[in-house]
Amino acid sequence: MATKLRADCPICGSKLIKAAPSSDIEIDCPKCKSRINIIVGDKGYHLMVLKTADMLSGSNKE
Ligand SMILES: [Zn+2]
Repeated sequence: MATKLRADCPICGSKLIKAAPSSDIEIDCPKCKSRINIIVGDKGYHLMVLKTADMLSGSNKE
């Protein structure tokens, strides 16, 4: 029986997706527009923020 894990946005806490184990998902948060990469393993999931809304709005410093 596969347990689906619920992933929340690490930036704004909005519910993003329910993911099955062994998933690798890239999704844009509908609320804060951050791009999140979700890697789901057997015991939990790992979130990586690829882009935040701050980066997307154009104030990028090299
Ligand atoms: Zn968000």
